[in-house]
This record gives sequence, C-alpha cells and structure tokens, in this order.
Amino acid sequence: MGNGKCKLIIHGGAGRLEGKVATKEQYRVGLQEALHPSFETLLQEGARAAVLHAIRLLESDPIFNAGTGSKLQRDGRVRMSAALMDSVDSIFSGVINIYDVEHPISVADSLRGEVHHLLSGNEATEYARRKGFPFHDPITMSRFIEYRKALKNREKFGTVGAVALDEDGIVCAGTSTGGIGNETPGRVSDSASVAGTYADELGGVSCTGKGEHIINQAVAAQVIYRLRDGVPLKTILLDLMKEGASRNHEFGLISLDKNGRFGVRSTKNSISVLYALKDASHELDFTTGRRNLIL
Ligand code: ASP
Repeated sequence: MGNGKCKLIIHGGAGRLEGKVATKEQYRVGLQEALHPSFETLLQEGARAAVLHAIRLLESDPIFNAGTGSKLQRDGRVRMSAALMDSVDSIFSGVINIYDVEHPISVADSLRGEVHHLLSGNEATEYARRKGFPFHDPITMSRFIEYRKALKNREKFGTVGAVALDEDGIVCAGTSTGGIGNETPGRVSDSASVAGTYADELGGVSCTGKGEHIINQAVAAQVIYRLRDGVPLKTILLDLMKEGASRNHEFGLISLDKNGRFGVRSTKNSISVLYALKDASHELDFTTGRRNLIL
C-alpha cells in the first residue's frame, strides 16, 4: 500500500487542561505515542486497523479517559462506551456502559459481525466474556482520588477517538470514553451513538465534550449528511459550531473528508480539542497547530 492518500487524526478529549490528571506535555506525548505506530498500521493494514490501533493505545494510557483511566461514575464504578464505523459496509457497532474490560473499542469491533451491533451494560459485558475478552479493572489511583474528592470536572472533558483515510479511500471513525465523571449510572453518552461517531465514504467524525450537547445537535451524522449534500467540510463545521455556541453547547470534534481535509473545531474558545494528525505532508498536534484547524 502506498501512502499518498493516507491520513490519520486522533484526539484525547477536550478541555481547559487544568492538569489534574496530567500536564499538557504528557497529553501531547501520549497522543504522539499513539499516532506514530497507528500511522504505520494505516499504511500497512488500512483505515479500520489504524483506528483500532490508535484507540487501543489511548485506552491503555491511564491519562486518557477511556479504558484504563476512565472516570468513575457517581456510584464509584467505571462504565465505558465505544463505537466505530467505516465506509466498507457502513455498519455502526458499539458498546454502551460496558465494564471490566480493557479495550471497549475491541468489543465494539467484534459486534460488527453479530446480528445486533450495539449492546449495553451487563449484556455487553457478558458478550465480551463469551468472546474471550478477559476481566480487567480499569480504575486507576488518580481517578479514584479524583472521584473521592468529588471533582465534577465540568469544564474538562476526556474521551479518545480516531479518524483515518487509507490508500483505497476507505474511511473509518472510532470513539471510546469513560464518560463525564460523577454521572448518574445509566446515563448514555454520545460516543456510542451516531451523534458522536460516524463515517461513510465521504468522511468521518469523532466528537468529544458534553454528550448531551453532542446528541442535541446530532453532530457526527449531521457532518456526514451535509457532506453528501455537497457542502464543504469547513462550512459545515463553522455552521455547527456557531449553532453550538448559540445554544451554549460545549463540545469539539475531529473530522476528515474523502479529499483528505482535516477539521478540528470546538464550540467555545475555552475548549480546545487535544489532537494529533499525520499524513505524507503534515504532522501537527494541538500544541503546534491552531485550535480551530482546517487543512
Ligand atoms: N462525550 C463524552 C460523554 O459525554 C465525554 C467526553 O467526550 O469527554 O460521555
């Protein structure tokens, strides 16, 4: 596989970088460590493998709020959500509020081949066990201390995501989250919904921020459906963020279109998406690039 067309963009959530769990530099390094091996996977194995690789690495890095290091819910338990979709068969598959697994994104991937593509709670976890995903406790000491201090983290979101375009023009998007922290058990986030994660042959999107707000605007699916209407990615993102700002919504996203344009945007200046991106001619991250980026 050549590498002319290949693009990969990943994110580690959005927020004000208050540095409670990690510093800005640690987030930057964490994203770089996921970007480079996953870009190699993109060149060798294509878009879906690259998205899975990137998200698994971010789920394993305890500074990110996904997999190991997920935030605790109000009852002191971790419940995680993840989903992915690609342009090969346009099947959205995901898990909602799964627990005690290391890689929610891998369980989401496994559901692509099942009759039901989206499972939640106990049944999602039982499915994972049946498929051989072993028990894994994702709670870290820093998250436990954060929970005990009852930090609301209202202004600091976490989640991880990736969008890739490969040499064959296949697009894949994926998202994995531990939620917003201190939420009521039973809350459903945007990440394993078409508002938070969506891809088809025209592009892909992964969102981060307040799930309720992302769902209100059906963000990811809306981006792709407007691309189908021939609206340029830049116009779509500007419109969505303007609407979001007018509704006092707090979210951001990473996106790619089939022509290889990258887009990173958020609804407010105070919210910056922690992203890193790479193709044959660009390599940028949130410390070197502009906050609102369209390439
Ligand atoms: N969107 C996620 C949620 O609402 C959180 C995040 O992106 O930080 O659960």
